[in-house]
Amino acid sequence: MPAAVAVPWAGWSPRARREAARIVDAACVRLWLTEVAARLAAERDFLTQLDAAIGDADHGVNMHRGFTAVMARVGAVEEATGGQLLKLAGRTFVSTVGGAAGPLYGTAFLQAGEALGDAERFGPKLLLDAMRASLEGVQRVGAAAPGDKTMVDALTPALSAYELELRTGGSLETAVSGAREAAAEGMRATIPLQARKGRASYLGPRSVGHQDPGATSTTLMFAALEQAVLADRSQRFAGGARRRVSGP
Ligand SMILES: [Mg+2]
Repeated sequence: MPAAVAVPWAGWSPRARREAARIVDAACVRLWLTEVAARLAAERDFLTQLDAAIGDADHGVNMHRGFTAVMARVGAVEEATGGQLLKLAGRTFVSTVGGAAGPLYGTAFLQAGEALGDAERFGPKLLLDAMRASLEGVQRVGAAAPGDKTMVDALTPALSAYELELRTGGSLETAVSGAREAAAEGMRATIPLQARKGRASYLGPRSVGHQDPGATSTTLMFAALEQAVLADRSQRFAGGARRRVSGP
């Protein structure tokens, strides 16, 4: 038998398989960013419609423009860790997107990248740290609390659901699924709220009855995260793994 076979998953012990399944790496981060970009392109007009109702009708266009620039720069970088890719995404976002979305999402990506550091691979706990750093960054920049009808209303429950799932023995897959569900629930819960932050707050009671565009784009990012993680897993475990992953 040859000494090095290309990722013989079938021969791995259950423990080794379990450990490998908990790993996120730069390829998975790239997959996530690619998925976010695709969804923003598909949902651009919907996000803009939401923003037209209670803002200045630019959220879809801004997010799409920002992520197009992000993908161009990320695509030009061959060797980078997940953290470096996220920091690049954050810097690109800040420099190409105006309004509130640029600094808020830019900070979220930058802080997530900082939290991941230079780790080549990371597990679900470091991903939790990255999410927490993003939320803290967003709240520092935007000074929004839960219930203010902002992206924080999707980000906060998503983070809580992700953390609860990990604490109760869930896997990375079930944790990102839980996060996506909680984000979507938080997003829908913004509809009856009156905005207390951002341009929508100028409308006062007239902001009630509309879904927040920022909470919507944040939910889109968690949906993309779930899809990226699940796709990454199925590629790894589909016999002919697309890349070599070293064992524990
Ligand atoms: Mg706007």
